[in-house]
Amino acid sequence: MATFIVLLGPPGAGKGTQAKILAEKTKLAHVSSGDLFRENFKKQTELGRLAQSYMDKGELVPDDVTIKMIKDRLTQPDCQAGAILDGFPRTPAQADALEIMLADFNGQVDLVPYITASEETLVERIGGRWTCRAQGHIYHQTFSPPKQAGVCDLDGSELYQREDDKAETVRNRIRVYFEQTMPLVEYYRKAGKLIEIDGMQNVEKITERLLDALNKK
Ligand code: AMP
Repeated sequence: MATFIVLLGPPGAGKGTQAKILAEKTKLAHVSSGDLFRENFKKQTELGRLAQSYMDKGELVPDDVTIKMIKDRLTQPDCQAGAILDGFPRTPAQADALEIMLADFNGQVDLVPYITASEETLVERIGGRWTCRAQGHIYHQTFSPPKQAGVCDLDGSELYQREDDKAETVRNRIRVYFEQTMPLVEYYRKAGKLIEIDGMQNVEKITERLLDALNKK
């Protein structure tokens, strides 16, 4: 049976960093809705251009297009054994849609690690974040700087600051998270799937806690 993990947490909690590490260790696919929108924008698809108009403001992209994009992604062969979902679902309607699509794939949400951090920390982390152009590897100018400024250690591509990581948009993304995504914490808690992880710990400690929870499942 396939394994599906939903990483929950506010922007800047470390979902993307952990999703990449977990995907490597578990061999499950890493499915990041934000990365999929950014790829679409890079290719200038209709979906990419639509998504960008919401992303630039720190708003959520409408449920119908987001759900369709994830459904298409989950039907690809590399998701057959399961996936680590990073950034999806973000609304109750998306969570309901996910249940239905996973049932179609003979699976379900197995575990929902919820990574928490204080608002000051989120703003500080996102403000110093640099992302790799080629594959979305993530660095922080103070906490995890690349060996050479502006260059990804792993693939040598250029590092850039995401447009929506700029200060004005960050506060809105955090507000949107509290309004629209927080209900999912209770939803998954009630379903007995949630485990809370203190996102203020270092990256290695968080990974350890995640792998431990996965092994117990
Ligand atoms: P992220 O990379 O996860 O921080 O996502 C960046 C932006 O993409 C968000 O601020 C939203 O505009 C959009 N986005 C990503 N995932 C979703 C989702 N599940 N539902 C709606 N919008 C999303």
